[in-house]
Amino acid sequence: MPKRHLLRVNKTQRLSKLFSELFLNTSCSICDLEHFISHDIPLCQSCFQKLTWITGNFCLRCGVPFHEENKKQTFCPHCSDELPPFDLCRSILYYHDTTDSLIKAFKYGKNWRLSKYFSRLLFDYYQNHLIKFGHDVIIYIPSHYIKNFKRGFNQSYLLAKGLSNKTGIPCSIELIKKIKESKSQTTLHKEERKLNIAGVFCIDRNRETIKGKKLLIIDDIVTTGATVEEVSSLLREFSPALIHVLSLARTPLGRK
Ligand SMILES: [Zn+2]
Ligand SMILES: [Zn+2]
Repeated sequence: MPKRHLLRVNKTQRLSKLFSELFLNTSCSICDLEHFISHDIPLCQSCFQKLTWITGNFCLRCGVPFHEENKKQTFCPHCSDELPPFDLCRSILYYHDTTDSLIKAFKYGKNWRLSKYFSRLLFDYYQNHLIKFGHDVIIYIPSHYIKNFKRGFNQSYLLAKGLSNKTGIPCSIELIKKIKESKSQTTLHKEERKLNIAGVFCIDRNRETIKGKKLLIIDDIVTTGATVEEVSSLLREFSPALIHVLSLARTPLGRK
């Protein structure tokens, strides 16, 4: 089949999938069993209630949620020992089984309705907690180009772009590049993750635009913080005014 024709077929398939997802499919993005609450909240009531929102009791620097017994602390043990290279990190949801299913549905299912939902969550959080800082640039944690190719998109880019569209803060594309693939981080502890992630990223074009700027890094999940710390350390070398991180989900203290 001629290449041009194949491209046209793919485009038509993509458009019809997008159309059915946007207008016809009303199933919950997590369980796929029940109808979703609304077009704005594409989850059923039961799955939505399983989400846990981070509303307080977190480290004031890195944002890691504390357990009940640690709730009077100001900083987590990690930040008490050594301050991270970013100035502040905040997250919206606890990372647990339901959040994992939710983010996987977004990552692997190309769920455009979830992309819209997440952009709104990030925007609401930004308006309520971070707008006072007046960020100059939004950036995102990149994935390797092979993963982007397989998946068709970079999930952090979609989140960053969504927030950029809503806030009007420019999103810097390809400022950070992932130059080599890291091993899966899921079974690694903090120190192992640090080693695993070293040398994986580099700062690419427009590095001069970082100097004196207030940066906001967007990521989907922050687990031990090793990735955002590595990226923040690289950015620090170009003297930004501040580095903040905002993620959808965050692993509580004590979990990998
Ligand atoms: Zn559900
Ligand atoms: Zn901390």
